[in-house]
Amino acid sequence: MDGDFTPAQQLKFALLDEGLALHGSAWTALRELNGTRSLSPHDYASTSGVILELDDDVWVNAPIEAFNPNFVTQSPYQLLYDNGFRVEGQGLVSRATFWPQPAYHSTTGPWGPWNNFVVTHGDRGRLSPLRSCAMTCTFCNIPYDDAIDVYSLKPVDALLAAAHLAIDDPIQPARHLLISGGTPKPKDIGWMREFYERMLTEFPNIELDIMMVPLPGLFDLPRLAALGLHELSINIELFNRDLTREFARQKYNQGLALYLDFIEAATTELGVGRARSMLMVGLEPVEDTLAGVRAIAERGGTPVLSPFRPDPATPLRQLKPPSAETMIDTYLRARDITEEHGVALGPDCPPCSHNTLNFATDSAGALHYQRDRPRMLGAC
Ligand code: SF4
Repeated sequence: MDGDFTPAQQLKFALLDEGLALHGSAWTALRELNGTRSLSPHDYASTSGVILELDDDVWVNAPIEAFNPNFVTQSPYQLLYDNGFRVEGQGLVSRATFWPQPAYHSTTGPWGPWNNFVVTHGDRGRLSPLRSCAMTCTFCNIPYDDAIDVYSLKPVDALLAAAHLAIDDPIQPARHLLISGGTPKPKDIGWMREFYERMLTEFPNIELDIMMVPLPGLFDLPRLAALGLHELSINIELFNRDLTREFARQKYNQGLALYLDFIEAATTELGVGRARSMLMVGLEPVEDTLAGVRAIAERGGTPVLSPFRPDPATPLRQLKPPSAETMIDTYLRARDITEEHGVALGPDCPPCSHNTLNFATDSAGALHYQRDRPRMLGAC
């Protein structure tokens, strides 16, 4: 591994590759500190693991066998407890703290389980206004957890109540929000546009991001900017066209130019650093991912590298995540490309970097917590 990385940083890549085993001492401590609550929200392919903060403010979503038995088997990396958590393996050691889930997770309200509407990861609550998705990307669990025949819009009152619940949570309050989830059908674009405006109007004092496919008529960028939208995430996912056609057919049909043009338009409207785009590492050649990084950075966008994590619900369940070496190579070369263009790899929020290949530093290498840190368990 590259000598520039601290042990904690090296462990992040290693854990994203091979996952984490829980030593008996960690199980005992987790039972004592976390009770019977689940170790992870495990609601999405890339959020299926346990969220840890390692030394040097390194955040990682470490897959564990309980939720990813498809590739986490006998990991050489272990979580242990001895007057505090630590992660050890292959000669690397770091102290660690464990992210407990908010109080509202796994509870039920008038509209059913609250997690049908919102799930918190780190310090961000993620709202999902749709059930299922009008698209089918074979790396994503959403269309496999909920097939298109159950596609529906969720009640706006429930979504607003869920957002308040996440923000007011007594254990792990959401410090910012993301509206994400599935893509609407054309007939529902107006509904989604109104929902975005409603959220921005109802929550003027909390930073709100939107992650969505660029659809005709969905985004009124000047209006969203005027309402205070914090960031837009327009995920290209894969830059290689043949592989996009294989894994994300509808995104392929939309065409790459639509995504790139929209990232440029959003950057112009919102400002540099406020339009980001995720590229998945591990499903296409590194050179293609890096070409994507360059294309996003050239337009003033923020590239985000997300390591592919095979979700057990998807047809890609038998594949493996990229190796730590591939992730490091991609990260280092992507970092050079972004520096050339005066932008940084995103996201810039340290807790939100738990499932991305970056260390949430700005282009000068400095790390900033813009919000109160999440509550963590098991410090030394
Ligand atoms: S468009 Fe987004 S939510 Fe829908 S299947 Fe693809 S990645 Fe998943």
